[in-house]
Amino acid sequence: MSVVVCKDLVKRFGSALAVDHVNVEIQDGEFMVFVGPSGCGKTTTLRMIGGLETVSSGEVYIDGELVNDVAPRHRDIAMVFQNYALYPHYKVFDNIGYTLKLRKRPKHEIKQRVTDVATMLGIENLLDRWPRQLSGGERQRVALGRAIVRNPRLYLMDEPLSNLDAKLRVQMRREIIRLQRQLGTTTIYVTHDQVEAMTMGDRIMVLRFGQIQQIGQPETLYNQPANMFVAQFIGSPAMNVFPGRLEGTGQELTLVADIGHFLLPPEFVARIGRDSVGPQGPREVMCGIRPEDIRLGSVESDSGRPRALVDLVEGLGSDAYVSLSVGDTMLLARTPADARPTENENVTVDLNLNKLHLFDSESELSLLN
Ligand code: ATP
Repeated sequence: MSVVVCKDLVKRFGSALAVDHVNVEIQDGEFMVFVGPSGCGKTTTLRMIGGLETVSSGEVYIDGELVNDVAPRHRDIAMVFQNYALYPHYKVFDNIGYTLKLRKRPKHEIKQRVTDVATMLGIENLLDRWPRQLSGGERQRVALGRAIVRNPRLYLMDEPLSNLDAKLRVQMRREIIRLQRQLGTTTIYVTHDQVEAMTMGDRIMVLRFGQIQQIGQPETLYNQPANMFVAQFIGSPAMNVFPGRLEGTGQELTLVADIGHFLLPPEFVARIGRDSVGPQGPREVMCGIRPEDIRLGSVESDSGRPRALVDLVEGLGSDAYVSLSVGDTMLLARTPADARPTENENVTVDLNLNKLHLFDSESELSLLN
């Protein structure tokens, strides 16, 4: 069952269209991530679901109920934001139990639930502390505890980890995933960080200019991006993109690009949409290849492969990022650290053609099925 349904959801701020006909269904128990660059409308979409922002047009349903005109406090949702404000004059226990107290739950029940949630979050020894006596990560756990203790039907989280340092963010990311799996509560999580999206989401919705670019599982977005924007937004370092031309028809297709000519493997050609090539002759395309799908070889054992000059090598310990010039085209390759070339060396470039991506040069939509 879909817990949250957004139907043709639109938000206008004056003449600006912040959310442009968003249609999405979020399933029971799902961890859904909204991701996209700054200003793409993810927070506004989340706030409309939470009732903190009015809807310009379209509908929001929670558990089948149209909630457009339902006040936030009656939606049975809990929200965690980047700027989680704990009550400074309440100890951790009272911060977590605040909403239960507000609902006049009996004292023994509050004690039990606050203790359970604190144990779940590993902060049971902090219940007697003031917020000022906590580290950033501990405060964030208290904020999560405050949301969890109510046992709502839906969590909305807006960049809850962005105030934390990198190491703590990774740790809290894992804790949130573990917690969400344990509780099984439907969660919508907003972030601009594609790594967070990829590691946390059961599914991801990518937004740009208020419009959905693609909704899918992380692997689908990575391996079958619907357009060039998703292809370059998901994955780090970003996918290499360069112009090219498809020549030939039927099974025999050659990609002609500045970096070289590549006869495409039949199994790859079979994935290209029928109307993408045909009797009309060559077709202009944009090509994409991920850094890990470029193999570098030595020019000594050259077998006619394109040659490149190594501009820069960035070591990461396990891997290395290698910036290359192939004629006027710049490419970034990822190699195992022990196989990395040296700067100013000439190497050969081998593309894993089965991992190539092709996009229409005008619409930027993927040509692959
Ligand atoms: P960020 O990651 O920077 O928070 P976002 O994807 O969450 O970005 P939104 O905050 O949803 O983006 O904003 C979407 C668009 O709507 C932006 O262009 C923003 O400037 C605009 N916007 C958001 N809130 C308001 C407001 N209250 N009044 C006017 N414009 C707004």
